[in-house]
Amino acid sequence: MLKKNRSAPNTAVIPALYYPNAPEAVAWLTTVLPFTERLRNSDNRRQLSHGNSAIVVTKPGGNPDAASSTQQSPGAQSFTLRVTSIDELFLRAKAAGARVLAQAADHPYGERQCWFLHPRGIRGRFANDLRFRSSRLGWSTPRRISVRALIAVGMVFGLVPAIDASIMTKTPDPNQVEVVTVDVVHFWRAFDESAKVPTERRVDVYRREYFDLASEGLKDYAVFRHVTAETLAAHVEQNRDAYATIRPCVNNVVKQKPVIQTAFRRLKALYPDIKFPAHVYFVVGPQKGACMNSDNGIILAADMFATPPGTPYTYARVSAAYVPYAAVHETIHVNQACQTNDHSTLLQNVVSEGTADFIASLVLQEPAVRQHTDRWQYGCANEGELAARLLREADLKITKPWMFDHAPDTGWPPDMGYWIGYRIAQAYYDRSKDKRAALRAMLVVTDFKAYLEASGYPGARTSCVPATPVPITAASARKARREHSQPLSLGR
Ligand SMILES: [Zn+2]
Repeated sequence: MLKKNRSAPNTAVIPALYYPNAPEAVAWLTTVLPFTERLRNSDNRRQLSHGNSAIVVTKPGGNPDAASSTQQSPGAQSFTLRVTSIDELFLRAKAAGARVLAQAADHPYGERQCWFLHPRGIRGRFANDLRFRSSRLGWSTPRRISVRALIAVGMVFGLVPAIDASIMTKTPDPNQVEVVTVDVVHFWRAFDESAKVPTERRVDVYRREYFDLASEGLKDYAVFRHVTAETLAAHVEQNRDAYATIRPCVNNVVKQKPVIQTAFRRLKALYPDIKFPAHVYFVVGPQKGACMNSDNGIILAADMFATPPGTPYTYARVSAAYVPYAAVHETIHVNQACQTNDHSTLLQNVVSEGTADFIASLVLQEPAVRQHTDRWQYGCANEGELAARLLREADLKITKPWMFDHAPDTGWPPDMGYWIGYRIAQAYYDRSKDKRAALRAMLVVTDFKAYLEASGYPGARTSCVPATPVPITAASARKARREHSQPLSLGR
């Protein structure tokens, strides 16, 4: 076993990367990429760590092990960083001068990867384990994940081992789906017990009563959202009154379990080939994202669905009644042949989300339980204009202002892209004689243009019925936009 040595990183292999200007390279690697400078042997030789691994950044010729010929050409050396927020980091690297060698793409062996070249050479690659997928319910988007939120798992030099593909465990039987609520019970026990001990000992209570007993779903959530006993205890203790206020609402969220199970059974009856996540987990967190998928199942953060009565409308306001809808919506995504990524066209994004919403509405009463009747109000009144714009922008690799946008500058309610995708799905489904075949076609679609054409939308659209007669006035739209830009009262 290796002895600990303070002048060497605690890792058995330490690759050296050669940059013409080591200090400049270190500045780039530690601000743009998630490296930390660990030790400075000299100006031209520095140790950087990332997770449980380390590299040496040095100058050619500066040391006996650094022959000047080491730097044969830009890209002669490379490294891989395993991270979770690949798209955000890639954007940051590009903004900081990195040249794109390969755009981010999902690979069948279970990784999302991209390649870039440092402004002074050395290829870098980000690899993201596809085990986790942040859901795009419209109010918890991957783009909001902090670029600091990285899993530091390892690093290799040049050679990159492929990670086994890990995909969500699924079951064809809705009765086999396990809805796991035990973490919520544990959370409230930790909440109550921590009040009985001095502040400095409360972290231990959250660790012992909540994290040590974690379900697989809570473990995945904690890794993906970077929630630890320390960060959760700090947040909850700072917002103790707010958590006490939302407590009954969190419990209402958990009470949706039988509604989810019923909705899953209805979905099975409607489309027997559907696959369900093996687990649906409810967890409680520090108000950081509502919904995510891992290979263990769908994970719903109950705190994000718990809005007390009287909460003003905001982009993030979601009631307990929305929970079953979210579970079905996510289940549809799991069954879609074509997954969206940052390079999907607007049309694919619109179809993906709208189809998930539409099929969810076939098994759950819609849109009464939903918070976005404003989309229907606005959409029905302005459908011709919206459809014409969608046709113009269908091939663009954009999502704004259509979706994942809290305050569209068009004056629209947020996420009109979901709504118009719903309308396309509705048109397709309504004109299909064989409904089961229609559902299959909607789930396996890969040619989104052909699908749009087959739907007949907007020419052959079904008549539009707004949900409830709440007219949108210029003043209420302005008020909603102001509110959309405000975070929830509980803070970040
Ligand atoms: Zn979605």
